Amino acid sequence: MGCVQAKSSSSSSPPRIEKLKSDHGYVSGSSAGRLPPRPRSVAAEVLTERESPAPLPPLRQISPGEDELVDGWPRWLVNNIPRDVLAGLVPKSADSYIKIDKVGQGTYSNVYKARDRDSGKIVALKKVRFDTAEPESVKFMAREIMILQKLDHPNVLKLEGLATSRMHYSLYLVFDFMQSDLTTVISHPAKRLVEPQIKCYMHQLLSGLQHCHERGILHRDIKGSNLLIDKNGVLKIGDFGLANYFNPKKKRPLTNKVVTLWYRAPELLLGSTDYGVAIDLWSTGCLLAEMFFGRPIMRGRTEIEQLHRIFKLCGSPSGDYWKRFKLSENFRQTYKPTILEAFKDLPLSSQSLITVLLALEPYNRGTAESALQSEVRTIMIQL
Ligand code: ADP
Ligand code: MG
Repeated sequence: MGCVQAKSSSSSSPPRIEKLKSDHGYVSGSSAGRLPPRPRSVAAEVLTERESPAPLPPLRQISPGEDELVDGWPRWLVNNIPRDVLAGLVPKSADSYIKIDKVGQGTYSNVYKARDRDSGKIVALKKVRFDTAEPESVKFMAREIMILQKLDHPNVLKLEGLATSRMHYSLYLVFDFMQSDLTTVISHPAKRLVEPQIKCYMHQLLSGLQHCHERGILHRDIKGSNLLIDKNGVLKIGDFGLANYFNPKKKRPLTNKVVTLWYRAPELLLGSTDYGVAIDLWSTGCLLAEMFFGRPIMRGRTEIEQLHRIFKLCGSPSGDYWKRFKLSENFRQTYKPTILEAFKDLPLSSQSLITVLLALEPYNRGTAESALQSEVRTIMIQL
C-alpha cells in the first residue's frame, strides 16, 4: 500500500426527508427493542474503560411510542439529543446495511464492515453506546457527532451519515470503509516503512491535525489505531470519541485523563488541565519515532513509569517546570537526555522534527502548521 496525498472531498446536500423514509427502509410497526445500559460516565472513566475494554452490554426494551419517526429519525433519538446534532445528516435505517464482518472493537464501540443494500457500497458502521437513562453517555455521543460535523478535510475521516434502528436503541456512525490503520502498517513483520513513506504519512497527519486545531478541536487520542489508511494510502484521522473543543483565548479546564498512556504528553501526566494543541503534537512525535523503529518508543505500564521514560529520553525538566507542575520527589534525580543518541541513525530532518515535537515544554512543540512549514523547508533544501 503506497502513501499518497489526498484530494479534497465534496459534500452533498441531504435529500428530502419523506423520500428518505421510504428509501431507507423506515416502515411503521410495533416496538420491541433493547438498549445498552452501561454508558461512559465521566471523561476520566472513559479513559479507564478505554484502556481495559469490556464487552458491549445487552440491549434494553424500547418504550411505547419511541419507535415513531420524527423527520426521519426515531423518536427515542430526537428526544434525547439536541436537534442541531442531527442537522445536515441523512437519516438511514440500520436495516439498509448488511453487516459483513466485525473489524474493530473498542470499549464503547464495535465497528463493522457492511454493505449498503441499495448502492452496494462498502462502509464502516461504528456502533456507539447510547443509554437514555445516562445523560453523560448521550452527551459524549452527541459531542463526537457534532465534532465530526465541524470537520471537513481530506485527512480527517468524514461522517457520511447516521443509521439507527427503530426497534432498538442502536446508533451507528457511517464512514467510508478504510483498508487499514497506521498501527497495522507500522507493525507489519516483513515491511519496515521507509523514509519517503514516513514523511508522506506525517505530512497527512499534520495536515489533518492543523485542520482540527484551526477549527478549535483537540483530538486527545492520537495513536496509530486511530489513524485509518485507505487502499490508496490516504491517511485519515478517525475516532473523535475523546476529542473536545478548545479556545486558546478563552481557556476552560479540561480533564487530563485523556490520550492513551504511551502517547500521553508529560503535562497531562502531571495533571495539567489548561493544555492545548501541544498534547496532540507530543503524540505525533511519538508516532513519528514509532514509524522509524517499527514499535512504540515509550511503553510505560503506569503513569509514573511513563514519566520516568519521558525524562530519561528528554532529560531533567527545568526548575521552572518543577515548580509549575509541582513535581514530586520521585523525580528528583538528574536525567541525562538521551534523545540525540536514541535517534542518531534517523535522517537529520526527522531527528530535528522529533526533537521539537517531543519537547518537555508544551510551548516549544510549535504547531501543526509550523511542523508542516519546517518539513517544506527541509524538502526545499534537499532539492
Ligand atoms: P473506539 O472508540 O472504539 O476506539 P474507533 O473509531 O477507533 O473506535 O474504531 C475502532 C477500530 O475500528 C479502529 O481502530 C479501526 O481498526 C476500526 N475502524 C474504525 N473506523 C473504521 C473505518 N472507517 N474503516 C475500517 N475500519 C475502521
Ligand atoms: Mg480508537
